Amino acid sequence: MNPMEPMICIDPIFKEHKTGFFHPEVPERLDAIQKELESKGILNQFKSLKQRFATKEELELVHNRYYIDYVENLCNYGGGYLDGDTPVSKESFKAALLAAGSGIQAIEEILQQTTRRVLLLLRPPGHHSLKSKGMGFCIFNNIAISAKYALKKGFKKIAIIDWDVHHGNGTQEIFYSDKNVLFISIHQYPFYPGTGSMDEIGEGDGLGYTLNIPMQRGSDDSDYKKAFENLILPKLEQFEPEIILLSSGFDAHKNDPLGGMELTTNAYEWMTHKIVSFAEQCSKGRIISFLEGGYSLPDLAESVRVHSEVLIS
Ligand SMILES: [Zn+2]
Repeated sequence: MNPMEPMICIDPIFKEHKTGFFHPEVPERLDAIQKELESKGILNQFKSLKQRFATKEELELVHNRYYIDYVENLCNYGGGYLDGDTPVSKESFKAALLAAGSGIQAIEEILQQTTRRVLLLLRPPGHHSLKSKGMGFCIFNNIAISAKYALKKGFKKIAIIDWDVHHGNGTQEIFYSDKNVLFISIHQYPFYPGTGSMDEIGEGDGLGYTLNIPMQRGSDDSDYKKAFENLILPKLEQFEPEIILLSSGFDAHKNDPLGGMELTTNAYEWMTHKIVSFAEQCSKGRIISFLEGGYSLPDLAESVRVHSEVLIS
């Protein structure tokens, strides 16, 4: 077995995070993805990532203890709401610990050189989660916890690219004054959560290490290609990251019920290709992809499938 083959994390525990019948971020999202990857013979081309739950101390790399304990208690009492659209159920804390822990395990596998590419099909998502507040369907900031863990393990230059249709406000807040983490977000603007204008560029040591690319409602594949070629790839080339972490939401798809963009499935294949070929040249091929949004089940499944096909190529 090739020790460097791609790895995947897909675990039934993520489906135990229940959000209610009328919520778009539902366990069935993972069922749709899994069915698509299985039926196309893709799932078995990945090796399974070892199951790993984050400890509270690891969550504290990003979040404060008061917030972590609050989420745990709320879940233990049967659930409730972190904000108007972020419900938690009894098992949500466990699912959230696994989501954060899987990102940490992915970093470990890359450090041990057992793989270079990891696809994390997680719930709950993470990129809106702030240091002391869950919001926008997110409980803990999975990608930020992984990046902090990687810094602790000696990485000096980490790039986070967020192509979810919503601005990754939580990730931005966490690394806003950090020059070791380049944060790039391309998103619909103005839109939820309201942040992500072009003049948000970092502060202090981190000045210039946040790049926001606000896109008008209705932007299509060619608009995203231009943004990649003119802004995202040059910024990555200048930064020379050792690893790329992707906040891969698929809600800029034209059929997504929440987003207002016009991307086709092909755009996700093209963007993944660009990131993979950049990583091959500059980042030793290291990529970890974290699932964020994407709410049209058939289009989510198809978009994750083309994303996966490039990752295993
Ligand atoms: Zn989103």
